[in-house]
Amino acid sequence: MSQVKRQVSSGGVTFRKSDKGIEVALIRIRAGRWALPKGLINKGEVPEETALREVREETGLEGRLIDKLGDIEYWYFSKEDQTKYHKFVHFYLIEYERGSIDDHDWEVEEVKWFPVEDAIKTLSYKSEKEIMEKAIVYLKRTLGHSL
Ligand code: ATP
Repeated sequence: MSQVKRQVSSGGVTFRKSDKGIEVALIRIRAGRWALPKGLINKGEVPEETALREVREETGLEGRLIDKLGDIEYWYFSKEDQTKYHKFVHFYLIEYERGSIDDHDWEVEEVKWFPVEDAIKTLSYKSEKEIMEKAIVYLKRTLGHSL
């Protein structure tokens, strides 16, 4: 008998200012998909801590949490657990401070900085594209029109 479980993760859009404008870090995962770094919220952790930890572990980058961008949700079925998951993911905007994408998690195939507009086109999931749109709106409002 298959069952239904709820799963909650947290992740981030990490940005930096460069001479090419604002860039954000995306990860390439299985099947060549590009995504935002995220992971399950551990017991005793608040979503903000998870976002910073998962960004650090998956991308090798550390930063300062700026604000909440939004939440997404989706369903998926795990054959292994014979479980249908209803998944929720919190996303935060993080300003890059230190670290290098060369130190990314071995489970992540690649980490790359993208100009924000390219990041929207590159992301594989529609809901993550929408989170990136929110990040752009936020950055335009706070940094002026220098994107
Ligand atoms: P986490 O990164 O939170 O630890 P995970 O890597 O174990 O999670 P998910 O990334 O949630 O697992 O992927 C589980 C399934 O959901 C996969 O089939 C994946 O393609 C799909 N999936 C992941 N993100 C989305 C999304 N934003 N919209 C729809 N389906 C998604």
